[in-house]
Amino acid sequence: MRQIAIIGSGPAGYYTAEAAQKLFGADVAIDIIDRLPVPYGLIRFGVAPDHQSIKAVSRRYEKVALSDNVRFVGNVSVGEHVSIEELLGLYDAVVLATGAPHDRTLDKDGADLPGVFGSAAFVGWYNGHPDFAGIDPVLDGTDVVVVGNGNVALDVARILAKTLDELGESDIVRHAYDALETAATERVTLLGRRGPHQIAMTPKELGELGRLERACPRVDPADLPEEEADALLEPGMRKSVTLLREFAAIPESHRADKCIEIDFDFFASPLRIVGDGKVEGMVVERTELDADMRSRGTGETYTIPASMVVTCIGYQTPPIDGVPYEHGRGRFANEDGRIMPHLYCVGWAKRGPTGTIGTNRPDGYAVVDLIAEDIGEGQGRKGRVGLDALLEARGVDVVSFRDWQKIEQAEIGNAREGSPREKFVVIEDMIAARGA
Ligand code: NAP
Repeated sequence: MRQIAIIGSGPAGYYTAEAAQKLFGADVAIDIIDRLPVPYGLIRFGVAPDHQSIKAVSRRYEKVALSDNVRFVGNVSVGEHVSIEELLGLYDAVVLATGAPHDRTLDKDGADLPGVFGSAAFVGWYNGHPDFAGIDPVLDGTDVVVVGNGNVALDVARILAKTLDELGESDIVRHAYDALETAATERVTLLGRRGPHQIAMTPKELGELGRLERACPRVDPADLPEEEADALLEPGMRKSVTLLREFAAIPESHRADKCIEIDFDFFASPLRIVGDGKVEGMVVERTELDADMRSRGTGETYTIPASMVVTCIGYQTPPIDGVPYEHGRGRFANEDGRIMPHLYCVGWAKRGPTGTIGTNRPDGYAVVDLIAEDIGEGQGRKGRVGLDALLEARGVDVVSFRDWQKIEQAEIGNAREGSPREKFVVIEDMIAARGA
């Protein structure tokens, strides 16, 4: 019997479990360990609450979780309750599927002022992540600056711009829903240090900005390259740029009844964040592209008002003691998923924070092929029996998948009308909801 531990119950973790089941059939026991009492990682805490069709992929993970040879071992923190060395002693293979839940930080003066948030914190706040549920962003100012031109920046801008009605069927958590009800936002500036041809926004997500009830995107036509140049772009990117061209052509008359503007400020790089005790503005430097399409400052600066700043400039994987780490890229040092004997990584922990949820599927299948090569039939390790003994001796309150299903039922029962669930945002409340 092969014993596999997967750390992290997000997409990368579940696709790895699915692949191991497919390849090894009944001859494998898989433990999916998560520090939280609730599964699904990025699906629950990263995917935007108004993108329920994307979140529906969790049903596929549930199927995996409910099969006999897979266990969810929730509320167990690797590094605190059990070490990597201990897991390596118990299992034939340990797979780090820990994602990239930490923000890449904006290394500029003023980035530590109150009112400046990284996207992990801000997205975690509206998605009810227990680590960020209490950040309490003040939304009583009119101007929000969102740094970055990727899909996370789009998510943040869209959530801030939507009406409560538009958020009705989402599972945005109550504290964010209530805060948005009284928010004073009038302008969301999307700050891109490069130009329209360098955005990292996909067309489906970008297109949503053009269909909002009370908000309208604005693109300065002067920022757009000659239209002929679009022909050289790959098709997805070309579609995105076509949308930017459509935004640039929106007539002023159409804006009259929109109270929020989503302003694309291209060729603009943050220099410093300013404010007296809290963020009040951002000093920005105009940029241009060099021959390698990198941005470089022109020396021209200007200040934009900012009552809140959200930096959406990418994520990194938190290092784990004793596991080789690639600091520049914010991920574990690995060769195609192999870190060291018996230790592997998948998903963002392996590749860095790029790609869609589906990108994790081939990753999971590929790492299981490596595991099959490396461990053969398994080496008679204790696996889950050993883990259970160790956690019991340490008094760890493990949350099982059945427990999670009770928590989930309670969340469904607590939902406001139209919403699929009202998430618990405090770990103790999650645990209490599983009942006796
Ligand atoms: P991303 O796609 O890597 O975008 C990061 C953005 O931040 C880029 O525009 C980058 O500009 C900018 N940036 C980086 N460092 C900066 C700095 N120091 N100053 C100013 N700008 C800076 O990252 P993401 O938006 O966090 O998304 C992560 C992954 O999740 C992506 O693969 C994304 O597609 C995916 N995602 C998908 C969806 C969806 O499909 N619905 C939703 C959310 C996220 P440069 O290009 O100039 O470096």
